[in-house]
Amino acid sequence: MKIAGRWFERREMGDGITLLWEPHVHPLIRCNIWFARGRDRDLLVDTGVGVASLRNEIADLIDKPLIAVATHIHYDHVGCLHEFDIRLMHRLEAPRMEDYREFAALTASGFPAELRASLSGYGLGEGDAPLLDALPHKGFDLAAYRVVSTHATGLVEEGDAVDLGDRRFSVFHLPGHSPGSIGLWEEASGTLFSGDAVYDGPLLDELPDSDIAVYLATIRRLRGMKVRVVHGGHDPSFGRDRLVEICDAYLALRG
Ligand SMILES: [Zn+2]
Ligand SMILES: [Zn+2]
Repeated sequence: MKIAGRWFERREMGDGITLLWEPHVHPLIRCNIWFARGRDRDLLVDTGVGVASLRNEIADLIDKPLIAVATHIHYDHVGCLHEFDIRLMHRLEAPRMEDYREFAALTASGFPAELRASLSGYGLGEGDAPLLDALPHKGFDLAAYRVVSTHATGLVEEGDAVDLGDRRFSVFHLPGHSPGSIGLWEEASGTLFSGDAVYDGPLLDELPDSDIAVYLATIRRLRGMKVRVVHGGHDPSFGRDRLVEICDAYLALRG
């Protein structure tokens, strides 16, 4: 496999928000990494698979305390979490991050068999098919990939605020995809960072820690939100009309 020239890409999204992503990672595990600039503190939402340093990548953006939030602890969202000094997540995710034993793989064969079957429609591939199309550096060993365990420096719950000085994000508990999935809602701008609770792609509700009945309630709640823009855990951002469509499709499928 070729060696990637650079590992991350980024795009300015307006509103002081920068999107970063890992173009050489398979779309199934290519999470959106969100950086939101505040006056006193900045916010980082999710951190990628962790095969290259996100902290080095965003060094030019860091000029004040940075609050890193994990929307949930699936490996494509927490790979670089350990690199940051302030690490927030929901209490239902935190214990599993401290001693990371969740499945985490960069080849199809590393996925549990049952999951492999349910993801076969998403181009997961067979056997040792890699989930990268380039390596982050020479000598990188796909089979040795692990998520670095780390502890939360703070726990957040429904209704808590993440305060950047001039911007304030409210924590929404959005369980179903995983038990402690959270979103961050900035009412003033109508912006929702939704993690994997909702994004514009197939919603995964059959993972080992998913719960469809609980997920349905979350989707009903999201459907009622007066959002201007949803920045999801995967796939392109979207507005309120598309949010309603995505929620309705899920409710029709599972409701
Ligand atoms: Zn997830
Ligand atoms: Zn994800």
